Amino acid sequence: MTTIHKLINHMIQLQELIMADMQKKVSMPKVRLEALEKSIAALSAQLPPQVKTNFARLVQKHPEAIVPIYGENCAGCGMHLTKSLVIAVQKGEQLSRCPNCARFLYLPESQVQRERTSRKWGEVRKVGIERFTSPELMIPALSGTTADEVLAELCGRMADEGFVNDGAHLLRMAQQREAIISTGVDNGLAFPHVRGVEGGGLTMALGIHRKGIKFGGPGRTLSRVFFFMVIPTATSAFYLKLLSGLANTFREKDARELLVSAQTEEDLWKALIKTTKKTIK
Ligand SMILES: [Zn+2]
Repeated sequence: MTTIHKLINHMIQLQELIMADMQKKVSMPKVRLEALEKSIAALSAQLPPQVKTNFARLVQKHPEAIVPIYGENCAGCGMHLTKSLVIAVQKGEQLSRCPNCARFLYLPESQVQRERTSRKWGEVRKVGIERFTSPELMIPALSGTTADEVLAELCGRMADEGFVNDGAHLLRMAQQREAIISTGVDNGLAFPHVRGVEGGGLTMALGIHRKGIKFGGPGRTLSRVFFFMVIPTATSAFYLKLLSGLANTFREKDARELLVSAQTEEDLWKALIKTTKKTIK
């Protein structure tokens, strides 16, 4: 591993923390995250001064300052990259940036990929929340009793229905994300996710746990409603908006109860569409 590879890993780690911080603030506006912010400051301080400045400037513009190469494209802006640039990133002789969006580039060892676009029973036209999810991704009765079991159910469903190519890898990444800071928030909501799943749009599965489980939400909150998302890099900014819309919608008890009381996949699908009709455009 070259010095540049080490620097890139450091930047990816910093990026993960920054995204976790943004995610938490968007989904739970009153939260205080001192430990996480300290870690971000510490990692940031260790960057070479010029990189630190560029990184900070990029984060002002996009949620992500360092993005993967997918195929031969920048996963941030979609720009096709020259072979020599891709090879330079792979070799790690110098830090490379996308010539179009200026974000730092890295080449992931392996990636979970999106497999197919979502579809819906007997309908073609998609609006609102329907653009990001599908009836097959509704789980009205999660059966797991631990965070890992519930994550496995959500990841398993994504893979079984053919939305991603590697459910086991997806699960490991979802677990790694939870290890940074739980995606459980107040009102029994949780927003587990995996970023950097390229090859299509943002996709969401919805799982309900009637009794609720401990998922690291604030205080003794039990999590009952799980919005699990796979997020391509290019949709990161949109993802934060969607997250905010969902957190606002389901802050209302009536809306939550409509989801929790759904008995079948179809009921849950209808309840999701009804509750988000006005909030998710
Ligand atoms: Zn780019």
